[in-house]
Order: sequence, then C-alpha cells, then structure tokens
Amino acid sequence: MRPFEYVSPSEKAQAVSLLAATWGKTEILAGGTDLLALMKDDIVSPRRLVNIKEISDLNGVSANGRGIRIGALSTLDDLANNATIQKNYPAFAEALVEVASPQVRNQATIGGNLCQRPRCWYFRNGFGLLPKDQDGKELVTVGENRYHAILGNEGPAKFVSPSTIAPILIAYGATIWLQGPKGKRELPLEKFFLAPKTDGEREHDLRPNEIVTDVLLPAADRVQAAHYEVRQKKAFDWPLAVAAVTLTIGEAKIRSARIVLGSVAPVPWRSFEAERVLMEQLIGEGTARDAAEAALKGARPLSGNSYKVQLARVAVKRAILKTISGGGGA
Ligand SMILES: Cc1cc2nc3c(=O)[nH]c(=O)nc-3n(C[C@H](O)[C@H](O)[C@H](O)COP(=O)(O)OP(=O)(O)OC[C@H]3O[C@@H](n4cnc5c(N)ncnc54)[C@H](O)[C@@H]3O)c2cc1C
Repeated sequence: MRPFEYVSPSEKAQAVSLLAATWGKTEILAGGTDLLALMKDDIVSPRRLVNIKEISDLNGVSANGRGIRIGALSTLDDLANNATIQKNYPAFAEALVEVASPQVRNQATIGGNLCQRPRCWYFRNGFGLLPKDQDGKELVTVGENRYHAILGNEGPAKFVSPSTIAPILIAYGATIWLQGPKGKRELPLEKFFLAPKTDGEREHDLRPNEIVTDVLLPAADRVQAAHYEVRQKKAFDWPLAVAAVTLTIGEAKIRSARIVLGSVAPVPWRSFEAERVLMEQLIGEGTARDAAEAALKGARPLSGNSYKVQLARVAVKRAILKTISGGGGA
C-alpha cells in the first residue's frame, strides 16, 4: 500500500474542505469494506484519506414529515434491525439482510454501499472502468463478460452497478443528499447513478469534494413492495440479477408501479416499459409474466451472458408476484 495522509474531521464542512477538487488525490473512508481493498490492490491510491466516521450527525435514522432520513454512516446491520424500516419498508429490510455477510454488514455503511465501485474484473485489475486493449477494442466485448451488463450496455460502460439495495431504494422513491463546497443538493437516487462515457468519468453524480450525507425515503404507507435476488448459490457473493418492485393498488387494480432491476446494467435499471404494462391491470401470473417480458425486451446480451436475460426476467416476475403473496411463483 502506498503511504497516505489520514485525517478525521468531526464536522461535515471540515470534511468537505479536506477533499480535493479533482479525483485521484483524496478519498472518503467510511466502513472501508470496499475502499481499503481497492487501495491494497493499488487501484485507488489517494494521497489523503478523509475518515468521516467521527462526524456524528451523519449517523442515525429519524422520521420527518416526508418519511425517514437515514444518515450516510448508518451501517447496513443497524438499518436491517431498525424497527421503523422493518415495519414501513420491509422490502428494504429484506434487501439489507441479503447483502454480504454479518461481518460486512456490521461495518458497511449505506453511503459506502451506494458509492461502492463496480466489481468488474477488468476494473479491479487496473484496466479502468472502460477497459480497452492495445488496438482500442473494448476488452469486455472481446473478453470474458459473463457477469457484465445485458441492458444499457450500448455505450462503453459494460460493468454492472454493484449496490443491491439501490434498486429497492429507487423503487420506494428515495432521494440522496450531498454536501460540497457550495452547499447541499438533493437528487432522486436514480439520477445519482451514471454510465460513464469517457475515461476519467465516474459512475456516480458525486463530485470529488462532495460527501453523501443522507438518504431520504418517502412515506410508503400504501405501497406494496418486494425485492428478489437470483444468486449463483447461497453465499456472500453479489447476485446475478435483482428486481425491486413497488406498487400501489386501488380497487384491485395497479394504480402506480416502479420496477427497478439490479446487477444487469451500469446503473440500477428502471423499466418504464414494464411499469406501463402493469398500469390499471389486475395483478396475477399473466400480468407479471408480461411485465417481465417487457422489462427484458431491450436486453442486448454480450457473448457470454445471455443466460442473465432469463434470470432477470424470472426476478422481475417473482418480485411482482411477491408484492401480493410474499412468496414468489415459478
Ligand atoms: C464479501 C462481500 C460481499 C458483498 N456483497 C454485496 C452484496 O450482495 N450487495 C451489495 O450491495 N454490496 C455487497 N458488498 C459490498 C458492500 O456492501 C460494500 O463494500 C459496503 O457497503 C461499502 O460500504 P463502506 O462503508 O465499507 O464503504 P467504504 O469502503 O468506506 O467506501 C466505499 C466507496 O464509497 C465512498 N464513500 C463512502 N462513504 C461515502 C460518503 N458518505 N460520501 C461519499 N463517498 C463515500 C468511498 O470513498 C469509496 O469510494 C459486498 C462486500 C463484500 C466484501
């Protein structure tokens, strides 16, 4: 590991002032479950590490008029065991419990989870987010791509967005708060994730001198929600496909729907096509199948990952059926 300066500010504004205005010079340290591995592998080599864990007002969950506010330093374990989240956002609680292992969840924070870097093996081996060979060919296209994107992969970004809690947060309509030198800004969480188009761009709408301070979840009293993951096996690994669904139902018909897929695109993938299919329909096996079909209609698998199309389709269908049954369906 290269030497670096370590600072532990106790206030948000102080943390922001210690961050550089360009990427590469400084990094924010939260739980460290992703960042420290990247530093040890020399994929990221900041000259200064800004530890934010001493900033007490980045902690905790509190209710306000709009729903709940979750501080960026809340650990995944604390959130999974939070009574308000279990009662009002049960699909989020379920997604949290499925992340990694108890040890990782004890240490990992929600801010770090949303800002974690892609698991793409080209990126993790030092070839960058948009890896190319010596002839300028996209390495992911010509190389091993079994875990890469099947949707939204027309551009140079072909990694998959790694956070498995982002889809359900987006389905619940979460917003994210950021603080930088010019003050605070709020974004719908779905707009926080970006597919970079050129080298040097990152996969989040986060400036190098900004910190994530909070995630806000709107009230979800009338929402029926589900999270469904397809994994290679029951282990601490990232899943192959994720689907998150929120519905509001009135007089037995679907009045609003949000469907968000994970592990299939460079960003959490909201399927407006599938949402349209569900509108004003009675929920049932046929409707769920049609919506799942629509969600994957635009899939463009790479040479080695067409198997993911069916997995994602099944995830969407089962998540929709789970909103009413708590089960899944074949
Ligand atoms: C074995 C294993 C299995 C895993 N499985 C899953 C899984 O199934 N699903 C899943 O979603 N994740 C999974 N993870 C990833 C894990 O959830 C993340 O590593 C963790 O959430 C990152 O949080 P952290 O607090 O440790 O972040 P850190 O490692 O401290 O930081 C991660 C990144 O976020 C930045 N960052 C952190 N906090 C902030 C902030 N407040 N503002 C701005 N930038 C910030 C850091 O600079 C860094 O770039 C797994 C990890 C392991 C080791």
